Amino acid sequence: MDEFDEDDPGTEEWVAKERDVSLCPCKSRLPYAGCCQPFHHGTARPETAEQLMRSRYSAYFFRLVDYLVETTHPDTREPQLKMELESIIHQANWSFLTILSTTRGEKEDKRGKVEFSAKYYVDGEQYELHENSRFKRYKGMWKYLDGKA
Ligand SMILES: [Zn+2]
Repeated sequence: MDEFDEDDPGTEEWVAKERDVSLCPCKSRLPYAGCCQPFHHGTARPETAEQLMRSRYSAYFFRLVDYLVETTHPDTREPQLKMELESIIHQANWSFLTILSTTRGEKEDKRGKVEFSAKYYVDGEQYELHENSRFKRYKGMWKYLDGKA
C-alpha cells in the first residue's frame, strides 16, 4: 500500500499549501506576490524595462486590460487599444515566457529593448510570439512603446 495514496488527506493539504505560494506567471520563479503583483496593484513601479515587460506578460496572463493600457506609452497608445484588448484578451491562454536579451532599460536609462519569446494557446493550438519590444520612460515610468517580430 502506497503511503502517498491519493486519498491521503495529508497529501492533499500539502498540495493546497503549495498552490497558495503560487509562482509568478512570468516564469521568474519568484512568488507572484514578490514579483509582478505589486506592479499590477500599483504599490510598486517597475525599475527596469524587463520588469515592465514581465509584468505586462503577467497582465496578459491574468487579463488585466487596464494595466496593459496604462503601461503603453502615450506616443503609441491608440484610442481604441482598450476595446481591442478586451475583444482579444480572452482568446489566448499564455503558457510560457522566455527573456532572450535586454538592451539598456536599466534604472539609469530612458529607453530599453527586450527580446522575448512567449507561448500561448488559442483553441488548443500552441503558438509562439517572438518580439523585440521597445520601452521608453514617460514621466519617469517605464512604458511599452512598440514591438516587432
Ligand atoms: Zn513576474
